[in-house]
Amino acid sequence: MVDITVKSLTKKFGDFTALRDLNMTFPAGRVTCLLGPSGCGKTTLMRIIAGLETPTVGEVFFGSQSVNRLSTRQRNIGMVFQYPVVYRGINARRNIELPLTEDRSLSKAERDKRVDEVLDILEMRHAADADIADLDNGTRQKVACAREVARRPQIILFDEPITNVDINSKLQLKRALKEVFMRLKQTIIYVTHDQTEAMTLADQIALMNDGVITQMSSPRELYDKPNDAFAGFFLGNPGMNFYTHIAVTQGKVSCALFPLSIELTGEHARAQAVTLGIRPEYVRILGAQTPLSVRGRITSKSIVTGGQYLVHLRVGDIVAKAKVAPSVGCDLATGSDAWVEFPIERVRVFGQGELQPQV
Ligand code: ATP
Repeated sequence: MVDITVKSLTKKFGDFTALRDLNMTFPAGRVTCLLGPSGCGKTTLMRIIAGLETPTVGEVFFGSQSVNRLSTRQRNIGMVFQYPVVYRGINARRNIELPLTEDRSLSKAERDKRVDEVLDILEMRHAADADIADLDNGTRQKVACAREVARRPQIILFDEPITNVDINSKLQLKRALKEVFMRLKQTIIYVTHDQTEAMTLADQIALMNDGVITQMSSPRELYDKPNDAFAGFFLGNPGMNFYTHIAVTQGKVSCALFPLSIELTGEHARAQAVTLGIRPEYVRILGAQTPLSVRGRITSKSIVTGGQYLVHLRVGDIVAKAKVAPSVGCDLATGSDAWVEFPIERVRVFGQGELQPQV
């Protein structure tokens, strides 16, 4: 088990730069999810780590060893792809065991122990003796995962393994992978464009945009403390509310979100203007006025996943989205007024020069 470091990594395809000067360590024994929109460079980074693509500039290290000149096979990695890679004509157990037979140091008993361990963690004992052809595609993908996990390579790379699994198997496969990752503590890089998948599985998320890693943090930190507006917007459903070009006067901001002016700290206090962001689920709609609430008008509401309500509000000259519990949302009438609070501790302050969200 080793950590993976990329140094000054750049990848160009002709004139197009897919990865720009990446410097990052992916820690040993942890799950790092590469998350980002389509085309941001996730797969290219994973392919370079796997040795399937050559960097234009820069180096990849496994521990302290540079692997740039090693082939994919020499790198001793496992790979799981979007579509399950399985051997036809043999059962699931044999599929998992087959690569282990290449390791002459393993006895039959040791091979069986490894296979049984992953079959148990993935809850697929019942399918062990079934012919691969008779299994649904979710179980086949479990077999493909089990084979790589049982082999115990230095690193395992997952490229959107859940994306093409049928809808009924997705949740089950995600839960099974979580269990494997927690129990076996292997070094994993997991590519996904699905934020829920990344939030569920990752120890840390490397958020990518336009060929760079914009933030690497735990899921909680990335969600609550996005470094920039891109992270605030990309994560969350819907993403953050943003208020741009908020003037700063003597280190304070006054805007429709707050009944009082709010003092800024650090470099933002010296800025001329800032962007404020708050997640819809932290906006409170209240039955009565509080010292920090302002008056707003409800312009629409709809039920969203989980039974919560997504409420659109107009507060002075700004609009806001709030995500509220069913017990709060069901009593709100479109067109009526309500007291609204934007808790200061939940408001993020961004510099004006940052990437703006694509709303
Ligand atoms: P997706 O989630 O859609 O798979 P991604 O984040 O994995 O996207 P990549 O597949 O790494 O993105 O691609 C990054 C960029 O590099 C894209 O604009 C893609 O078109 C380009 N690209 C990738 N491979 C090649 C190639 N072999 N030749 C030319 N351009 C490429």
